[in-house]
Amino acid sequence: MKISQRVQNLAESATIAVANRSAEMKAAGIDVISLGAGEPDFDTPSHVKEAAWQSLQRGETKYAKPASGTMELKQAVVEKLQRDNRLIYEPAEVLVSVGAKEAIGLAFACLLDPGDEVVLPIPYWVSYPEQIKLTGGIPVLIETDVASGYKITPDQLRTALSSKTRAVVINSPSNPSGATYDTEQLATLAQVLEDHGEVTVVSDEIYDQFIYGGRTHVSFAAASSYTREHTLTVNGGSKTFSMTGWRIGYAAGPRNLIRNMAKLQSQLTSGAATFSMHALAVALTGDQSCVAEMKSEFEGRVRYLHQRLNDLPGVVCPEPEGSIFVFPDVSGTYKRLGVTSSVEWATRLLEEAHVSLVPGAAFGADRCVRFSFATSRENLELGLDRVAQFVS
Ligand code: PLP
Repeated sequence: MKISQRVQNLAESATIAVANRSAEMKAAGIDVISLGAGEPDFDTPSHVKEAAWQSLQRGETKYAKPASGTMELKQAVVEKLQRDNRLIYEPAEVLVSVGAKEAIGLAFACLLDPGDEVVLPIPYWVSYPEQIKLTGGIPVLIETDVASGYKITPDQLRTALSSKTRAVVINSPSNPSGATYDTEQLATLAQVLEDHGEVTVVSDEIYDQFIYGGRTHVSFAAASSYTREHTLTVNGGSKTFSMTGWRIGYAAGPRNLIRNMAKLQSQLTSGAATFSMHALAVALTGDQSCVAEMKSEFEGRVRYLHQRLNDLPGVVCPEPEGSIFVFPDVSGTYKRLGVTSSVEWATRLLEEAHVSLVPGAAFGADRCVRFSFATSRENLELGLDRVAQFVS
């Protein structure tokens, strides 16, 4: 059987070897501490589960109508975007998707023809470049580092734009770096785009509720009237309400783009599960204290992690701003440890110290590794003790 060239060209995840080895070691009874989780370690709040149960009891077990999302959930998204993000949308400008991931994939498929370019800052979430390439698009990468707080500058953006640019990806707060743009930083990037002309920003704001140090989240679409018209804002229930397994997300943006994403979605997946839609509507409009509790616990953990990492010789960790990850540059330890890449570093850490985490190569940044703090404080402490022993 011949597999299509398009799919053959997709990268195997750089994390697979480390993840497989970690699973093997756990199965063999080795006490591996995982600092690799990409999802909150909390249960979905009980009132959200209860809402899904009620929905099932009412017989909401058929295709959602319309497939692009029930009016109840679209209204709830409109309310959320106004309350948390100062964005005014109408339900017709909202699409409900099978997780944020589907919304992002649909957007690239609607925006890109073969040869079109998408500006993508490094480090990037693993699925962006592969989803872009699936449509025949070309990721144009912008390097960032610890010194710039993993944020792109207006000059870098200007240089990366060309007549073939169709989209720019902004992921704030970022997976994996946690970098979070403030109002002024977004406004200067927005000005560069406005000067350039017709480019759509895919603004992935899935971690918008997990921001630390008294910062507040700023949506790219709220940066100016230009960005309001040229941004697709993507979010979902996965992180905010710990609903990764419910496969429910959403996007809001220009009506024409949303309409075409819905058309494509109707042929690909027929949309998200009906009872997940009701559950997310209840989550978005109900009591938000469950979100505040999660954020407060994350904030305590990230302070601890940041301090411990910066105490390690050869490790530089920028101040954590958001998300559930930190992304230290560990290349200062490579020589001493006799390694030359983040995959080797993570493999050695796993074999020798029994700690698993994700090498930066998966995100395009081979000097770094990603630590997740979506795990208990006990695990973090024990894991950090082992990492400290490993690097020293
Ligand atoms: N965007 C980012 C930056 C993520 O980290 C993730 C999940 O890890 C997603 C999107 C996908 O989220 P969902 O579960 O809603 O598809």
